[in-house]
Amino acid sequence: MGRLKYYQPEYECMDYEQLKELQGKRLAETFRHVYENVEYYRKRCEEAGVTPDDIKGLEDLDKIPFTCKDDLRATYPYGLFAVPKEKVVRIHASSGTTGKQIVVGYTKEDLDIWDDCAARQLVAVGADENDIVQVAYGYGLFTGGFGLHGGATKLGCQVIPISSGNTQRQITFMKDLRSTVLACTPSYAAYLGEALHDMGLTPDDICLKAGIFGAEPWTEEMRRDIEKSLGIKAYDIYGLTEVLGPGVSYECAEQKGMHVNEDHFIVETIDPETGKRLPEGSKGELVFTAITKRAFPLMRFRTKDIGVLTREKCACGRTFVRMTKPMGRTDDMLIIRGVNVFPSQIEGVLLQNGYQANYQIIVGRENNTDTFEIKVEMVPEKFSDVVSEIEKEEKKLQNALLNILQVKAKVTLVAPKTIARSEGKAKRVIDTRKLHD
Ligand code: ADP
Ligand code: ZN
Repeated sequence: MGRLKYYQPEYECMDYEQLKELQGKRLAETFRHVYENVEYYRKRCEEAGVTPDDIKGLEDLDKIPFTCKDDLRATYPYGLFAVPKEKVVRIHASSGTTGKQIVVGYTKEDLDIWDDCAARQLVAVGADENDIVQVAYGYGLFTGGFGLHGGATKLGCQVIPISSGNTQRQITFMKDLRSTVLACTPSYAAYLGEALHDMGLTPDDICLKAGIFGAEPWTEEMRRDIEKSLGIKAYDIYGLTEVLGPGVSYECAEQKGMHVNEDHFIVETIDPETGKRLPEGSKGELVFTAITKRAFPLMRFRTKDIGVLTREKCACGRTFVRMTKPMGRTDDMLIIRGVNVFPSQIEGVLLQNGYQANYQIIVGRENNTDTFEIKVEMVPEKFSDVVSEIEKEEKKLQNALLNILQVKAKVTLVAPKTIARSEGKAKRVIDTRKLHD
């Protein structure tokens, strides 16, 4: 463990009643700021009959209209910015996983908030100024690289801004520069674990102790695999470009969900169909309201990520609400022959059956019926070139998948290392049905 227990205990361990008061006050101020400076959103509020005088505290949250991804597209590029151009010092854009560009901005103070949020995550995994942080998230418009970079710099760590890619050099630097914390996507962490072993090294040859992995869904099974292959504890971090970038919520040493930085963001879960707020503990769409940022503070932003919130006491001492790992976005969900399928469910089954997260989901349509194939890489232990053996394994996996998904998939085992590895967010689904949308 590092020297520090918390980065900002005055917030991270805040009394809940005080926190609610702070959130209410900040919400009222930020709502007014957005109302007065963003014409597009003011019109939305006028239609809903809400003015800043109606928003006095947290109890008025429900009156505030939602914002969604389409609003960002409709106002591209600057339509939702709430400060004059000269106050904006940084632009980021979504990595376009779901195909559409959106642009966000930050003031100097906003970047400071972001650094604090990311620094809280680093301290929560045991880091302090003695640590060497290898930032292997992509640097650029994607928020991953700069987000962790800012937090680690603010905390006083030594930062290696290596960005993603160049996998062998990553391992060489990790070893020679004695990195202690690795930050990247979980799929890249898995790849780095594999590369380490391929280079004839073991976790004993490196100094890594913790990893901060996020920006895409990953399973508990994958966490265990990464922890083993790199000899570390692997932590989850959540964020999204629209709201901040990495550091909206962060995992502590308990590894039981991510604490939302509630002094900066109000989180709710809603029923995605009705838009109604759900009680704590129910699974729903996560909605965030930024209450301290100034350049791009979205009100009640619908993330399409599905999660569960809990205020159960956490043994780490932080009082911020925790959210579960999002199991996937509503727009990642595949509907195959009428059944809802999340890629994360498939990954869970594969890892439970001794495979790794090297797979590809191929969905198409033939004769008006959906086709559904999962290509899975054989692992060296199970490698066989006896056709009957392979077929037996495929059948076994197929049944295990059917059990969980309730829809039949064709399983094809392919030779080790034939499915392309990812250096950023993994793209595991090929859905040709959507090509003609
Ligand atoms: P894009 O929308 O182009 O993928 P973002 O980087 O903004 O770009 O992606 C944010 C999304 O990534 C979130 O809405 C969520 O779906 C996913 N995500 C981020 N962190 C995690 C995480 N720790 N676990 C699961 N999903 C995550
Ligand atoms: Zn905790």
